[in-house]
Amino acid sequence: MIIILKPHASKEDAQQLLSQIEAKGLKPLYMPGVERTVLGALGDERVLQSLHLESHPLVDEVKPILSSYKLVSRELYPIDTRVKIGRHAVGGEGFTVIAGPCAVESQAQLDGIADYLTHHPVAAIRGGAYKPRTSPYSFQGLGEEGLKILKATSERSGLPTVSEVVDAADAELMAQYVDCLQIGARNMQNFRLLEAVGKLDTPVLLKRGMSATIEELLLAAEYIVNAGNPNVILCERGIRTYETATRNTLDLNAVAYLKRKTHLPVLVDPSHGTGVRELVIPLARAAAAVGADGIIVETHTNPAQALSDGHQNLDPQQFDDLMSSLKPFVEAAGRSLK
Ligand code: PEP
Ligand code: MN
Repeated sequence: MIIILKPHASKEDAQQLLSQIEAKGLKPLYMPGVERTVLGALGDERVLQSLHLESHPLVDEVKPILSSYKLVSRELYPIDTRVKIGRHAVGGEGFTVIAGPCAVESQAQLDGIADYLTHHPVAAIRGGAYKPRTSPYSFQGLGEEGLKILKATSERSGLPTVSEVVDAADAELMAQYVDCLQIGARNMQNFRLLEAVGKLDTPVLLKRGMSATIEELLLAAEYIVNAGNPNVILCERGIRTYETATRNTLDLNAVAYLKRKTHLPVLVDPSHGTGVRELVIPLARAAAAVGADGIIVETHTNPAQALSDGHQNLDPQQFDDLMSSLKPFVEAAGRSLK
């Protein structure tokens, strides 16, 4: 429920109402605004009705939150959330580019990639240390050694880092090494993992499951925010359809829909979304045009030698092309690359 207070209600009045809400076992939310204070009460709405807030002298209006997700909905928070990765804010008027290899392979590999990324307005470097691979015989990542490499590259280049967490038990350790924790498509509904990253304050990049509905993605984000971490960035990375020409079908509907329904920033991953190197640039431009807050792309100094996802990685020249051909689309969308 959303409870809109009368203009003259004071902070103390609000606190008193919040205590009553909490005493009923509901989660109280305090959202002071310029003109009005808005309160939230999350939980069983029948319990709230017993407080008869509609007839309270300081309450102007009581409105239900119609969506199944609450904390991540625009109904509750109409203003865009910005999530900071290092010093870079994702969301707002900037357009974020996160780039790097699929997997961290060696110190030299990651440093080599960081070297050309730093010539561009790139917000962070990505790279998996723990890789959730479809086959158990594929490269599984370097584990903690990969995290150490990410940290060293970050210190050397000044780029913040994004890396995937695959196990709730690793979340705290990873947060000591990286600036943003990615939850991959295969783990979007690993609820214990969502709760584990929800207990931290490290930003989380939550990717949509390949068979997940948009509502399921938003409810997965709700788990993280409800556990206490408001720093969630959503990512559309393609879904599985009957189409076989591309690895996945990048669902740009989802991006436009998400931007209407949630205040969280939304990124697009055109690398996994298409699985085809030549399609990454056009779909990155489409992401800017449809209103995404940024992209996350795979790039490698030598894609032919990459230990994972080489077929969809851009080489340094192609990465240059991406950045220069993206710029006019970003600007046409009223944003800037930074
Ligand atoms: C990745 O980003 O390398 C990755 C495995 O992505 P996804 O979870 O979207 O498949
Ligand atoms: Mn990959």
